[in-house]
Amino acid sequence: MVYQANSARYESMEYRRCGRSGLKLPAISLGLWHNFGDTTLLANSRQLLHRAFDCGITHLDLANNYGPPPGSAEENFGRILREDFLPYRDELIISSKAGYTMWDGPYGDWGSRKYLISSLDQSLKRMGLEYVDIFYHHRPDPETPLEETMRALDSIVRQGKALYVGISNYPAELAAQAIDILNDLGTPCLIHQPRYSMFERWVEGGLLDVLQEKGVGSIAFSPLAGGQLTDRYLDGIPADSRAASDSKFLNAEQLTEVKLEKVRKLNAIAQRRGQKLSQMALAWVLRGDAVTSVLIGASKTSQIDDAVGMLANRHFSAAELAEIEEILV
Ligand code: NDP
Repeated sequence: MVYQANSARYESMEYRRCGRSGLKLPAISLGLWHNFGDTTLLANSRQLLHRAFDCGITHLDLANNYGPPPGSAEENFGRILREDFLPYRDELIISSKAGYTMWDGPYGDWGSRKYLISSLDQSLKRMGLEYVDIFYHHRPDPETPLEETMRALDSIVRQGKALYVGISNYPAELAAQAIDILNDLGTPCLIHQPRYSMFERWVEGGLLDVLQEKGVGSIAFSPLAGGQLTDRYLDGIPADSRAASDSKFLNAEQLTEVKLEKVRKLNAIAQRRGQKLSQMALAWVLRGDAVTSVLIGASKTSQIDDAVGMLANRHFSAAELAEIEEILV
């Protein structure tokens, strides 16, 4: 059956301006890091994309190395895009990145002009796209001059291979320098993509201030700490969860009793607010104006529904914020 998007898809999503740009992003975006590689059934990945778009999630985030194996998330996404989403291409904001190890030898990693431009060419082929909407440098490169990396981003926009560019995982001071260089080149930095959740708050130590001051948007990745800030692990580790998989990024050892105690306390506050912990955790990341969008992952369509359900209750009283703060310290 040909996919037909939900005609009510724009009715409940909130769209937020990305920094001082002309682009608005959905308050919730979907990342394709997990559950889109060759180890996931294509039908599941397809369902997740359908549900996301049907809920007004117009922004899909990829990277050259998402899989496994690396590249397969872009390939699988490209196939679903071709089969189901071509009529909707102009309603989508598709991003990709380069910065982590992608291929052997000195040109498949970090931040050289050689790597960024050839990697994006590969990503475009895998996805079957002429351009991505946002292209990111995925992580800072301590060896390549920042000017070279930023010039590569600028060239990519001038070549029409990306509409906007961004940076990810850059600390505050380096982000400020990168933003200034891009401004001087005439290709403003649209967005920064840092990790940010109740459990990972480094961005509060200066980065968010820099971005707000310079008019750059932000999209918080892993806002649920990979699933830790949900009710998923309250009664042990479910067999189908990320912590039970062979993920390098979330394993049973990270789910310490101290952490689980915090999760239980946070869960109690969420219940009092009449929402799930996952919803409260997303609302918390969006609580000020500093974060444009939360970038979630999902293994089931119900998790997308949960995320979207957050929009119905995303405000906190000062007392609630103080209570949460006490748990998090
Ligand atoms: P999250 O913190 O949102 O974790 C998502 C996982 O949490 C899901 O896969 C699911 O895991 C679980 N989950 C989600 N919703 C619920 C729910 N309602 N109830 C219970 N469990 C739930 O984000 P990710 O860590 O997946 O990262 C999101 C995106 O961020 C990535 O896809 C990628 O696009 C981007 N990213 C960027 C990075 C960068 O360096 N720029 C690095 C990492 C991510 P389960 O499998 O257990 O169901």
